[in-house]
Amino acid sequence: MFGNHQQKQAEEALDQLTYFNNLLKQAIGEPDIYAVANDKIADFGLAGVSRMIVNRFEGQLNTGKMMRVLLQKVYNAGVLVLNDCSVNQLKPEGSNVQLITSHGDLKATKVILATNAFASQLYPELEVIPGRGQMLVTKPIANLKLNGTYHFNEGYYYFRNIDDRVLFGGGRNINFKAEESYDFGNTESVKQQLVTYLNKMILPNQHVEIDYWWSGIMGFGEDINPIVKQIQPNVFCAVRCNGMGVAMGSLVGENVAELTLSY
Ligand SMILES: Cc1cc2nc3c(=O)[nH]c(=O)nc-3n(C[C@H](O)[C@H](O)[C@H](O)COP(=O)(O)OP(=O)(O)OC[C@H]3O[C@@H](n4cnc5c(N)ncnc54)[C@H](O)[C@@H]3O)c2cc1C
Repeated sequence: MFGNHQQKQAEEALDQLTYFNNLLKQAIGEPDIYAVANDKIADFGLAGVSRMIVNRFEGQLNTGKMMRVLLQKVYNAGVLVLNDCSVNQLKPEGSNVQLITSHGDLKATKVILATNAFASQLYPELEVIPGRGQMLVTKPIANLKLNGTYHFNEGYYYFRNIDDRVLFGGGRNINFKAEESYDFGNTESVKQQLVTYLNKMILPNQHVEIDYWWSGIMGFGEDINPIVKQIQPNVFCAVRCNGMGVAMGSLVGENVAELTLSY
C-alpha cells in the first residue's frame, strides 16, 4: 500500500503490474496475481493511504505452530536437539569435523551451518550482514477491520492481523547502520516511528494498547539469493535468507541436504 505522499512510488509500482503478473503466470500458471484494490482501503479502516495493490496468493502462517511441527518431525527422526549451546569453532579432524562448543567438544562426519544472520561470526568470508527487525503486537482489538498481510514503504514496514490483534514491525530504514546489529532489542527511534504509524495510519483514533515488543535478526547481502555451498571439507552452509527464510526455508533446507548427501 502507498501513503498519500507516495504518488510517484505508487505510479511506478502500478506501471510494473502487468510485467510481474506475466512473470508469475509463467512461473505458477495463474493470471492476475496482483490487482489494484484501492476500494478496499476504507473497508480496512486505514488512514492516509491512497493506493493499494492486492496479491491474492499472499499467505499467512503461525510460525509457533510451524516450529512445533518441525521439532516433532526431527524428534521422530531420532535427531538430538541441543539448545543454548554455542558453536565457537569448526575444525577439520581427519574425515570428521570437530565442533568446539560452549558445552564441550563434539564430533560430526558432516556439518551444515544454518546460523543465517550470524554466519559471518564463524566464517567472515561469508558475506552476510545482520539486520534487526523490531516488532510489536497489540492487545486484542474489538471489531478489528484488518484481515491479511500488508506491506508499505518498499517493504520496510509490515503488519498483519493475528486473530483480533495487530502484529506490526520494521523501520530498519530509519537507521540502517544502527540496525546492522547482532544484538536483540528495541530502540526508541524505531519504537516511536512504529507507534506513530500504528496510531495514525493503521488503527487511526482507536487508542490501542501494545502488549509486547521484541526483535529478530535477519541475514542480508548484496545478492538476493541465499548462500548454499560447501565452505570447508565436510562443512556446508545454507545462510543469508534476506528476510524471506520462512517462505523459502524448506526449499533452502532441501537444497543444502541434497548438496551434503552428494559428497
Ligand atoms: C521481524 C522479522 C520478520 C520476518 N518476517 C518474515 C516474513 O514475513 N516472511 C519470511 O519469509 N521471513 C521473514 N523473516 C525472516 C525469517 O525469520 C528468517 O529468514 C528465518 O528465520 C531464517 O531461518 P534460519 O533457520 O536460517 O535462521 P534463524 O531462524 O535466524 O536461526 C539461526 C539460529 O542459529 C543460532 N546460532 C547463531 N549462531 C550460532 C552459533 N555460533 N552456535 C549455535 N547456534 C547459533 C541462532 O541462535 C538461531 O537460533 C522475518 C524475520 C524477522 C526478524
